[in-house]
Amino acid sequence: MDEELWELSVERTHCQGSGVCVSLAPGHFTLRDGRADPVQRLVEAEEAILEAAETCPMEAVFVRGSTSGRQLAPPE
Ligand code: SF4
Repeated sequence: MDEELWELSVERTHCQGSGVCVSLAPGHFTLRDGRADPVQRLVEAEEAILEAAETCPMEAVFVRGSTSGRQLAPPE
């Protein structure tokens, strides 16, 4: 299956630094100055990333298809 990469971003102005995303997908998010950041912008698809984006209490984690630009999480 030809899967596109996912593009991760965090809206840092909305992030409250709860660390939920880091706990759920530790290889993909990290805290910097009390706010989350993606470890890498482009990543292989992984369920834990969707879970992190859907669980973030501030809906500050965004996952998009890197070529389609389609928002995969959180639900629009
Ligand atoms: S789960 Fe959301 S609010 Fe919490 S650190 Fe991650 S991006 Fe920030």
